[in-house]
Amino acid sequence: MTSRIHYTKPSITELEVGYATDAARNGWGEHCYDYIHRFEALFREHLGVKYAIATSSCTGALHMGLSALGIGSGDEVILADTNWIASAAPITYLGATPVFVDVLSDSWCIAPERVEAAITPSTRAILAVHLYGNLCDMDRLLAIGEKYGIPVIEDAAEAIGSVYHSQRAGSIGKFGTFSFHGTKTLTTGEGGIFVSNDVELYEQVLTLSNHGRARSQVKQFWPDKIGYKYKMSNIQAAIGCGQMERIEDLIARKREIFYQYRELLADLPGLAMNPEPEGTTIGAWMPTVVFAPESDISREMLQAAFVAANIDARVFFYPLSGLPMFTPRQENRLAWDLPNRAINLPSYHDMSRADVNRVAAVIKALLHV
Ligand SMILES: *Cc1c(COP(=O)(O)O)cnc(C)c1O
Repeated sequence: MTSRIHYTKPSITELEVGYATDAARNGWGEHCYDYIHRFEALFREHLGVKYAIATSSCTGALHMGLSALGIGSGDEVILADTNWIASAAPITYLGATPVFVDVLSDSWCIAPERVEAAITPSTRAILAVHLYGNLCDMDRLLAIGEKYGIPVIEDAAEAIGSVYHSQRAGSIGKFGTFSFHGTKTLTTGEGGIFVSNDVELYEQVLTLSNHGRARSQVKQFWPDKIGYKYKMSNIQAAIGCGQMERIEDLIARKREIFYQYRELLADLPGLAMNPEPEGTTIGAWMPTVVFAPESDISREMLQAAFVAANIDARVFFYPLSGLPMFTPRQENRLAWDLPNRAINLPSYHDMSRADVNRVAAVIKALLHV
């Protein structure tokens, strides 16, 4: 039996282990924020943003950012139907309604013309999620946002390393969020970050992230409002510092694996992969193949073929509006159809060329080429 190929695996070296050990041994008392501040500084520098607040998750970072925008009961936030629940859940935490729209056929990201058609007097934000590291059409989304006076925000959890016309994903909208969950390109086990160039928004999220205690408040143990508790620990941040020192290498390796897949698969008839339009670079978090409807390849066939080959492949996101807690929006035709004929391929730092070949061979066999 051949060895199992996992769909993802973090890359942790002696560097991360050393920092985490130091944090566990020495990172207490007056040093309990040292790695957190260092991690935030490294991340700001990498992304090219002014402000960053490390959090316990991307979900928490999104929750606080949306809250700081004043989003609440009766408000609407537009996002793509093709998404992970973590992008939509924080909207509902605030009593607001996620409005799910269809995606583009090439990037599988939110379709700008669908966004514009979905705008109502209650729309408070447009949430651009850079799916699988593919880039949203930010120019068009920002133009729509400007036209209607609605902020565009970015969930860049999957898009570290993705660059849109020389601006990094997550640094373009009113604010951005990232995840450092164990499956992501950069990991701290669990973790996330809020980033922005807007000083007022930053100050608000900083207060929210500290149980509502404003920085300017001189009284001890005096919250000025109800906030949240979504902090990253110093030990997680220590691992993050090691990962940040290696970030260019971590991204380069993801891109290298993606290009190995492309070389083997992209020219096959009826098969599409993550696009990388002119002027952009993708971080290639999740190499994905989408089969043309006429190829007659189904998700079930793909899953069965990968299981037989001892390879973990991930199903493409189901449309969120199809989940029991939301209202079905079957008019989002692509979002409802894509998961039936697509699959995410394994990609991780230490994956070998032979592993990539093995994965590609499964797809070729299905297509009889
Ligand atoms: C992973 C992911 C999240 C959730 O991140 P957590 O850190 O687990 O909260 C949110 N949005 C997107 C797009 C993700 O891929």
